[in-house]
Amino acid sequence: MEYCARCCYPANARPTIIFDDEGVCSGCRYHESRQNVNWGDRERLLRAVLEEQKARAREAGNPYDCIIPVSGGKDSHYQAYLMKHVYGMNPLLVTFNHSYNTRLGNENLRNIVKKFGMDLVRFTASPEAARKISRYMLKRVGDMTWHYHAGIRTFPFQIAVKYKIPLVILGEHGFAELTGLVSIDDLVEHTKWSRQEHDMRGIEPNQLINEESGITRHDLSPYVYPPDEEIEKVGVRGLYMSNFFYWDALPQAKKMHEEFGFNLHPGMRERTFILHGKIEDHANDVHDYLKYLKFGYGRATDDASMEIRHGRMTREEGIELVKKYDAARPSSLDIYLDFMGITEEEFYSCLDGMRDEEIWRRTSKGKWVVTDSIAKHVNDFGVNEARVPLVAKADRTFGKNNRKYYWRDDLADAAAKKMARQEKKAARRIIVL
Ligand SMILES: [Zn+2]
Repeated sequence: MEYCARCCYPANARPTIIFDDEGVCSGCRYHESRQNVNWGDRERLLRAVLEEQKARAREAGNPYDCIIPVSGGKDSHYQAYLMKHVYGMNPLLVTFNHSYNTRLGNENLRNIVKKFGMDLVRFTASPEAARKISRYMLKRVGDMTWHYHAGIRTFPFQIAVKYKIPLVILGEHGFAELTGLVSIDDLVEHTKWSRQEHDMRGIEPNQLINEESGITRHDLSPYVYPPDEEIEKVGVRGLYMSNFFYWDALPQAKKMHEEFGFNLHPGMRERTFILHGKIEDHANDVHDYLKYLKFGYGRATDDASMEIRHGRMTREEGIELVKKYDAARPSSLDIYLDFMGITEEEFYSCLDGMRDEEIWRRTSKGKWVVTDSIAKHVNDFGVNEARVPLVAKADRTFGKNNRKYYWRDDLADAAAKKMARQEKKAARRIIVL
């Protein structure tokens, strides 16, 4: 397997990644291209769109001038902050509740509503429908969070049409930031197609209705995108804020934690070292573990690569973290096996035909083993030439200015470890509402 000479991504990273002559990946080049953007111009562009929406809402007598889809994470907080405090908008918050919440996630969602004084529409999908869809999609595409991604990418647009609110404010364009799927110059917006292709694995809800799945039209209602005519009639657009600002999760999470009460994960996690991202639900750990089982890399690869690009960590430090976390079986898998009513053997056997044989090999005894890893590519050609200059020591990932935002066992004090144990206990259940 080829690995990026700068970050930790393998050549089979999803949805797609390419390497240039220097062995550097498209995600790293995308990140680099952010240095050349005139962010002042971008901000003015956004401001003009927002002012226009404000005027349109006033004219139409609509109390809301934009929608912010929120989960309760750091980005939700930051989007709410931008819209309300920086631009004086009147947003309607919209949450698709997929049933896989953590206590911390629900607390953070309440925090947004209270701190920013906004109205919230929360749609709770029936846990029974979530169970049926999770089971079926695990078998069909190796993904038990299809309803989760489909819901968060669809339901806010249903509300946009119903309430006639044409502007939907999204956070970062994840696939652009991670693997450089698009160019920063394209100012890509949310579309029905990108939602289907990247968030829903190319599958529209009606394709889930069959005898085997037992899924009904009723179960799928929150995942059906409004018809094109209705989207056009209201003029709905979904804008990614990462196209208008220099996006860096760490300073944004810091600001939200320090000034607006965003709760951080209190201590060690099972699949990554970051304590401020993707902490609002259990599903991320299992979803990410599935990615590892299929493609041989996981969230620590994503998170370490981003830290390396920001100059907060060396590639060597990133590799150590990938070794520590990427293959770890999350304990929340037990919760999901129980929820879906399947055994662990059934879970693994669902994936047999989906493992990327570029990286997985099946032994004669039927056991799957990884055939390569970035740990074997520490000194690859071009690594030294591809390095990003490091920031000051105190500002690095595990530097003293960032202690609360990342976890490293040897740096954590006894109180943090105790809190982490308590949180882990509390987190061992799915909280529907
Ligand atoms: Zn890279």
